[in-house]
Amino acid sequence: TPVIGVLALQGDVREHLIALAAADAVARPVRRPEELAEIDGLVIPGGESTTISKLADLFGMAEPLRERIAAGLPVYGTCAGLIMLAEKILDPRSGQETFGGIDMIVRRNAFGRQNESFEAGVTVEGIEDGPVEGVFIRAPWVESVGAEVEILAEHEGHIVAVRQGRVLATSFHPELTGDHRIHALFVDMVRAAR
Ligand code: GLN
Repeated sequence: TPVIGVLALQGDVREHLIALAAADAVARPVRRPEELAEIDGLVIPGGESTTISKLADLFGMAEPLRERIAAGLPVYGTCAGLIMLAEKILDPRSGQETFGGIDMIVRRNAFGRQNESFEAGVTVEGIEDGPVEGVFIRAPWVESVGAEVEILAEHEGHIVAVRQGRVLATSFHPELTGDHRIHALFVDMVRAAR
């Protein structure tokens, strides 16, 4: 059984731990660089990317994570987690850094503010049995991708799910819905990488 960490600096960590366990992984929160040695894959939760970026620096996690991801650690990021996996943010707050992993440019809060949050059915490449319920909360979208990036889903013409090799990202939050198909896809990616 693969051991999958959830980056537990800020955000909806608990929901991901539950979703991963439901998708047959051993899930544990990860906060310190030493803990990276013990996992086969990592989820970066939704929350606030500027805060995650700051805390990753404070906890000495930013550089080790960047290196592990570049070395092939399977990672799945939702919403703020998607932002953390981008090579570039269009509108970063000053000092806001990402871990990289997907050759893409993202736009933060692209779908509007908190009170413009919404749910919509999203058809995701590789996910069978119909669309997933996409929960979009101050969600980013992907503005553009490099040649190596697979686009897995769009919503109203905007890219909302992508994969590059072992790194997966969605603008929306499957961990909030009780539908574990995307987590199961990620657990399969982690298994295949082991
Ligand atoms: N807007 C947030 C950010 O920029 C992401 C929101 C979310 O994760 N639900 O980090």
